[in-house]
Amino acid sequence: MSERLEVERAIESLGDLRLIDYHLAGNEIYVQVETLRKPVYCPSCGSTAEPKDRRTSTIRDMPIGNRPLVILWKKRVWNCTNKECAQVTWTETANFVSSRHSLTNRAKRDLARQALVDKVSVAQLPQKWKVSWSTAMSSIREVEDQVKVPTQ
Ligand SMILES: [Zn+2]
Repeated sequence: MSERLEVERAIESLGDLRLIDYHLAGNEIYVQVETLRKPVYCPSCGSTAEPKDRRTSTIRDMPIGNRPLVILWKKRVWNCTNKECAQVTWTETANFVSSRHSLTNRAKRDLARQALVDKVSVAQLPQKWKVSWSTAMSSIREVEDQVKVPTQ
């Protein structure tokens, strides 16, 4: 399978995302994505939203082969068109990652599986996934009940 196709498949399987572009940096694959366009309404008053800005979130996903995959999500910042509304702006969210988290949900589960099933040492995981120790630990705690640990 070509590299581009592998990147496209990885992004497609995360949900409603469009691949903008990708590039290699060292061993890592950096992928720029945005959500698919659809009508957006204000969460407070339901008025039409207009795009105001973009903000890039850097999120680590499952590697492709042994190459780490780094998602640069060009998030849209929305503005409510209703002048009376108190909700001025908001940033979009998506199902593949929790707000303000630096690992995709599936990457968290894989990290936790490596810790709980493959018994990769918790000291090695931050380096392997290029996240902080506290991110690795909180990811394990967050998803440990979703990881099937074989019984002895
Ligand atoms: Zn509004």
